[in-house]
Order: sequence, then structure tokens, then C-alpha cells
Amino acid sequence: MDFQAWYFVALPALFLAGWIARGYEARVRAADQGGAPTALFRGLNFLLNDQPDRAIDAFIEVAKLDPETIELHYALGNLFRRRGEFDRAVRVHNYLLGRADLPTSERAKALAELAQDYLKGGMLDRAEAGFQQLVDDPAHRFDALRALLRIHATGRDWVRAIDAARQLEREGGETHRVAIAHFHCELAERAVAVGDLTAARRLLEEALVADRGSVRASILAGDIALREGDSIAAIEHWLRIASDAPEYLALIGERLSAALDAAGRRSEALNLLRRVLLDHPSIDLLDVTVRRTQEWEGNAAGEAMLREELHRHPSLLGFERLLAVRAASAPGKDPELELLRGLIQAQARNLSRYRCGTCGFRTRSFSWQCPGCLSWDSYPPKRIEELETAA
Ligand SMILES: [Zn+2]
Repeated sequence: MDFQAWYFVALPALFLAGWIARGYEARVRAADQGGAPTALFRGLNFLLNDQPDRAIDAFIEVAKLDPETIELHYALGNLFRRRGEFDRAVRVHNYLLGRADLPTSERAKALAELAQDYLKGGMLDRAEAGFQQLVDDPAHRFDALRALLRIHATGRDWVRAIDAARQLEREGGETHRVAIAHFHCELAERAVAVGDLTAARRLLEEALVADRGSVRASILAGDIALREGDSIAAIEHWLRIASDAPEYLALIGERLSAALDAAGRRSEALNLLRRVLLDHPSIDLLDVTVRRTQEWEGNAAGEAMLREELHRHPSLLGFERLLAVRAASAPGKDPELELLRGLIQAQARNLSRYRCGTCGFRTRSFSWQCPGCLSWDSYPPKRIEELETAA
């Protein structure tokens, strides 16, 4: 069970505080009835005996006997939300909202809690409606905007996500430039998909205004230039990545080298690939470099290049490549070699994934946004084996 033990320590304290805060008269009444304290101590007893569900039932009883204590309800509602019991959290916060005697400030707080329940519970429409009501309340504005940013980004409503992020930058002094650049890239990709290259180009310019170093925007700008038949402009965009963020060259090594070759700049392409590989070893860049060397200088040169790199940066993934090259040059000749290659391949599969630098989520293909924690640019363009060797 995903449960925070500390919460159980804090919760009874809140109940006690609330109970004391009710004042002497009410305390005497409660003591006369023998209700609240008994249930409270019964709840504590359940906690000490590691029976959280029964403890919660006892605390609910306290809240029922003492419905005026608002903090008790917040504590219970938050507790339910933390446990993933969103319907119960919603019920508690709705109960608070429905109270006619609730002061205005408490009403906004209860609404904020309710909207959080919906957000965590994945009921995004209701969460959005709640946060929209809070966005003009100075006490809740930034939290509401942050939640709306998350909701719009999850719903891939990039225009409204940009709007929320910019408001947070302008008024809250927060930085969302990386996300804003990606939102524009998403819109640009959408424009490309419907063939509107002019709109896509304009969106990418905005992405680069938001984040000058956006690798994704430069890659896309190059793709669009190439689609429009302007390979020189495409090369320019991609070369900018080679100089500003060379560790990302692996992502575009294939198309950049092809474009340079088509422009009669084959040796420049090979020199660039080899130079970057020297400073930023990467299995993906090695793949491109070996393939281009094989194509342009022959298989023997490709294999020599691979062996040299393997001696410089020994890795299982690199060794797997070498065995593949050997097997391709003499298929079926060495069954033991094939066997070894199969074994290494199985080991290399896990090492060849990408890993989010924020939450550790692993994916087979490179991604600009982590599907686990929704962070942007959190995947280094390197495989796990390379990340672990570097560490
Ligand atoms: Zn992540």
C-alpha cells in the first residue's frame, strides 16, 4: 500500500488541535456525550496496531460527531487523495463546499482541494472547471495556472498551454521557456502533418525565440527546409546542432550526412561524424559513422573504424555491432560466433534503452517528453550503457 506513515502521526495531532480549538463549552458537550475523544483514541489505537483502514473509519466518526471542525475535513480529504481514494476525497471536499456557513476564503480553499482531487483522479474536465474558477483569486492564481498548464499539456491543447505558461512567466517570474519551445514544436509538427509548411516555419521561429538552444526546433526547421527543396538551409540548421549541442548529432547524423553528400561535401560529412564521435562517444553516432564509412570507403574501412572506436570506448553495444559486421562479411561460417552474438544481443537489449534523467523511466526510442513524469528534454540522447559508463 502506498501510504505515508508520517501522515498518521500528523493526522491525530490535527484532530486533537481541532477538538481543543472548538472551545470549552463544546468540549464539555462532547465529553458528556463521550463521543469524539473515544473515537479519536480508538483511531489512534488502530494506527498503533497497524490497521489504517479501521483507523480512518474511527476518524470519520470523529468528523461526523464534530462537523464544525473544518481542518479535520481537509486532513481527511487529503489523506484519501494521498491513498488514491479520489471518490472519498471528492465527497469530503464537496461536503465542505456545500456548507452554507463556510467563509469565502475557506470556500476557495475547499474548491482548490476538490479540483486537486479531480486532477489527481484523472477527471481533467472537472479539474479544469475548478481551476478556472480559482484563476482570478490572488491566493490561488499561481497554483491554478500551474494546474491548468499541466491539464492543457496533458490534453495536448498546446495553444492554451502556451498561454498558461506565459502568464506564469510574466506574473510569477517562473521559467517555462523549454516547455514553451516544445509546445511550439508540437504545433509545428501538427502544421507539417497538414502540409502547412509556412505556419510550421513561423511556429519554429517562435520556438527558437522562447528557447534559443532548442535542438528539436532546429531539427524540425531542417526537416522543413529539406521538404521545401532547400538542402543548403537544412544543412545550416543541422550544423547548428553539431556546433551548439553536439551530443544530439546522433539523432540527425543520418540525414545530415546524406544532405552533405548530396551537396558534394562527403569528406566534410565523414570528418564531422568522426570528430564529434571522438569528443562525444555514442553508439548511435557510431552506427551512422560506420555505415557511412562502409558505403563511401568500403567494408574493410568501416570495420577498422569500428574496432578502433571499440578499443577507445569498450562497450557491449559496440561489441555487438562488431560481431554483426563480422557475421555479415562471412555469413554462417562461424556458428560459435553467431551463438555469442545472440547471447550478447539479449544482454544488450536492456542496455540500449533511453532513460529519463528526472524519473528514470526507460523507453526504447528517444523521446522529447518523458511519458512517466512528463518532463521535457529529460532524456539524454545516450543509451543506458553509455550513461552508466559515464557515471
Ligand atoms: Zn521522467
